Amino acid sequence: MSLANGRHYLAIPGPSVIPDPVLQAMHRPAPNIYTGELVDLTHALIPDLKTIAGTSGHVALYITNGHGLWEASLTNMISRGDKVLVCVTGNFGHGWADVANRLGANVEILDFGKQSPVDPDRLEAALKADQSHEIKAVLSVHVDTATSVRNDIAAMRKAIDAAGHPAVFAVDCIASLGCDRFEMDKWGVDVMIAASQKGLMTPPGMGFVWFSEKARQAGQGNDMRTPYWDWETRANPVHLYEYFDGTPPTHHLYGLRQAVSMILDEGLENVWARHETLARAYWAAVDAWGQGGKLSFNIADPAHRSHAVTTLSLGEGDGTRLRNWLTEHMGITLGISLGFGAIGSVEADNYFRIGHMGHINAHMVLGIIGAVETAFAALDIPHGEGGSVAAAKLLASRV
Ligand SMILES: *Cc1c(COP(=O)(O)O)cnc(C)c1O
Repeated sequence: MSLANGRHYLAIPGPSVIPDPVLQAMHRPAPNIYTGELVDLTHALIPDLKTIAGTSGHVALYITNGHGLWEASLTNMISRGDKVLVCVTGNFGHGWADVANRLGANVEILDFGKQSPVDPDRLEAALKADQSHEIKAVLSVHVDTATSVRNDIAAMRKAIDAAGHPAVFAVDCIASLGCDRFEMDKWGVDVMIAASQKGLMTPPGMGFVWFSEKARQAGQGNDMRTPYWDWETRANPVHLYEYFDGTPPTHHLYGLRQAVSMILDEGLENVWARHETLARAYWAAVDAWGQGGKLSFNIADPAHRSHAVTTLSLGEGDGTRLRNWLTEHMGITLGISLGFGAIGSVEADNYFRIGHMGHINAHMVLGIIGAVETAFAALDIPHGEGGSVAAAKLLASRV
């Protein structure tokens, strides 16, 4: 028997759960794109987007996904042949590096493996070795969505400063913005990218590049710039079409307006605290389950774990078996393994990811924890007892 009828819960690290008010805000006829409500709404979004990023700098809006943002950020920052240093902590650093490479940058990779964060000392050493300041940009993800590691961005800035290096510091916050604490100006980040479909709770299709005046100046006159991605007009538009270099994403803008208001109404500190607490509820359950059987965290140290996604390994290819069973019988879909072995290999099937970003609350987390325990029982997967009790106690201690 399947017990999956009812609302399906897609608990993957993006696209995340879309709040009903966001869906409702999008349910409307095509709006006027020349004057009126949509124009005012878009102008008013700009300061709010800067607030969420923690910056008084610039922001450019795009019709794109995360991959487009990698290209948008690079084509504004550097010229062909420029050296970029990419700090890799899993899958997504390699993705950004690959785009840089294909755009004609000279890419140097600092690889920290799949189970640890960026080591700021190694970053500092790499920059100190670059005596002639050939490196024009340092790129890193805040959270790697494949490994679920969270990097210490403020410590990386300190390492860049300690090396006395002028490179622009660019950070991919696609998996972390609106989930994990991020303070662009305070942490000294020059360029930051995030897309609509993760912590920002809006369907995929919009992306944002925030950039400091320093990054703007550093990129001026570079030869990688293309008309569509150029951030200059987008960040200083007069007419609505100039924000998007063409027709605006009308309905996304209504949805985003609602989502941004929900974040600001809850308060950024509260949003971050909610994500941390709900992540810790999952971790308490996993700690208990891990007492027997093979379940383990990919990132051992909680201090380095994302609050938006948790990557777990189960052994015997049971990660995929668990995922499939949850979709079929419980109406829950968890995230697939990413970057651990080829798709379909036993190694890949060991891993799965739980997305806990955006519009989620305690009962959704407890529901998944209970469903995972149900799957363990149904599939005879060995595990320690007491996961849901541990999660309940953790939540009770925090409210
Ligand atoms: C999701 C994600 C991306 C890619 O975004 P797409 O919208 O799938 O192109 C890039 N970086 C990080 C950190 C992500 O989480």
